[in-house]
Amino acid sequence: MLEINGLSKSFNGFSAVSDGSLRVEAQETHAIIGPNGAGKTTFFNLISGHLRADEGTVRFFGQPITGLSPSQIVRHGIARSFQHINVFPRLTAVANVQVAVIARRRQQLRFFGSAGNQQREAGDLLSIVGLESQADRIAAELAYGQQKQLELAIALAAEPRVLLLDEPTAGMSADETRKATGLIKRIQGARGLALLFTEHDMDVVFDIADRISVLHHGERIATGRPGEIRDDPKVRGIYLGEEWKN
Ligand code: ADP
Ligand code: MG
Repeated sequence: MLEINGLSKSFNGFSAVSDGSLRVEAQETHAIIGPNGAGKTTFFNLISGHLRADEGTVRFFGQPITGLSPSQIVRHGIARSFQHINVFPRLTAVANVQVAVIARRRQQLRFFGSAGNQQREAGDLLSIVGLESQADRIAAELAYGQQKQLELAIALAAEPRVLLLDEPTAGMSADETRKATGLIKRIQGARGLALLFTEHDMDVVFDIADRISVLHHGERIATGRPGEIRDDPKVRGIYLGEEWKN
């Protein structure tokens, strides 16, 4: 579904991602792990068009999408969330989602839907993420976890085929993390999405990922099923000294 070949990105001579290659299969749950500064966010930014690669290609269903703008890439069916909250803080929750619904419909040439119709779709998306009771609250006033749920609803408004989630549970307690990842998995299953995500909680990663890729100093050093990654000596070397759960 998503085929990434030889992606590289340097910042002033510092190589943040080097020769990054990865395949994400349809409906797969694929985790990218690696220590802080390993290049995970940069890798996501290269795929989503928020950064321009120095080298390499990204193909989606065989079509090259390298060099397209973030909004063009969303229209191809790749939606993402950010490590840091990224919503319109002064708009209500439902208005935030409506903006994304309108953007998608404009692209699909569905000009004729009424405003009420858009509001209903936005409301439905809020229900899917469990925010129906918060629809009319100002986004900035929502709790942190709720803002993350809102980001998910905004991403889903694009009707993506793949979701890129950069630390969807950053800043959450272990309990909130469990709930949030449960929600993400349910949505992924119901919509048949592929999921490419980063996550610091190794319990969650090993629990929900079909495959895991490990980045270290900008290079992918391993990809495999959770059991294979757990037993990989190179991977264990990197995480030596850190708690390696499971
Ligand atoms: P991760 O998400 O795995 O923690 P990042 O992709 O954020 O890692 O960062 C990888 C490396 O690239 C880090 O050393 C970081 O300081 C550097 N980096 C990231 N973005 C920039 C930038 N815009 N300018 C300069 N250096 C950057
Ligand atoms: Mg990051």
